Amino acid sequence: MSVIVFGSINLDLVAKTPRLPMAGETLAGNHFLTAGGGKGANQAVAAARLGVPAQMVGRVGSDSFGQELLAGLQAVGVDTAGVLIDLDAHSGIAMIAVDDAGENSIIIVAGANGRVKISDVGRLIKLLPSAKVLLLQLEIPLTTVLLAAAAGQNAGIPVILDPAPARPDIPDGLYPLIDIITPNEIEAAQLVGFPVNDPETAAKAADELRSRGAGTAIVKLGAQGVFCASAAESFFVPAFPVEAVDTVAAGDAFNGALAAALATGLSLHQAVIWGAAAGALCASKAGAQPSMPDRQTFDAFLQEQTHFKI
Ligand code: ADP
Repeated sequence: MSVIVFGSINLDLVAKTPRLPMAGETLAGNHFLTAGGGKGANQAVAAARLGVPAQMVGRVGSDSFGQELLAGLQAVGVDTAGVLIDLDAHSGIAMIAVDDAGENSIIIVAGANGRVKISDVGRLIKLLPSAKVLLLQLEIPLTTVLLAAAAGQNAGIPVILDPAPARPDIPDGLYPLIDIITPNEIEAAQLVGFPVNDPETAAKAADELRSRGAGTAIVKLGAQGVFCASAAESFFVPAFPVEAVDTVAAGDAFNGALAAALATGLSLHQAVIWGAAAGALCASKAGAQPSMPDRQTFDAFLQEQTHFKI
């Protein structure tokens, strides 16, 4: 009953500085840390932290970062047997500068993630029989995402696509391979070509994405909540009230929890509630992977929210 994630694995190199540097400027920072990141890895961690078996398929580089990334995934219980150590690439990295006001600037270098290709889909296909749900994002080459989605469909398991980071050029052929597409407001607007910022525009965007062939469209509306439309139903789940500290990776928490719930056999509606609860808990803590809720915290939170009791 595992969730299989096929996607990116990054090491975040985070420097805190009083302000962001200008072109040509050297600044003294006051804090530095490294953290596991990449949308694929974040979502695998989110599922595993909820106690649902998660397998990661992708690539890291043959550098010390790659070892650190694998160890980090394994430490939270993600199965990394499907991760290739690419001898000809460095690990994917994100260089993140954060200033005192919380403003950031980020450089992502794809490294090994940019080299995920058909041979990696071969490894994925071998692992699919043990999976209940396939989870994809757009931080690896689009052609490879297409092949992976087709492999998931052939295997007869739900394929979830988080179309992030935002890009307008998703090929038409990808939509019919996707059971559930989960854009946030910005990604949805990029895909459909009109602004998406409330439940009404989210419903219009969901209709459009479904008309292109996606089975179900879930539009994440940040602190407002989530709109979901499938062939059978459409509904809105308001955001759980939390004190937001840092919404980094809230979308990844949502997707990991959505996939975890579906792998466990819960309904679409229950799965969206799981996603919204994990997103809210993630937003209430700093960081990406460290802010993914564990099962105990998650269950306690859901139980407190009696009006959402499932
Ligand atoms: P992304 O990180 O992809 O931009 P969102 O910010 O929309 O995604 O967050 C995903 C989900 O997490 C939201 O739909 C919502 O359910 C939950 N969430 C995000 N931010 C908050 C918040 N400030 N308060 C409560 N829930 C939140």
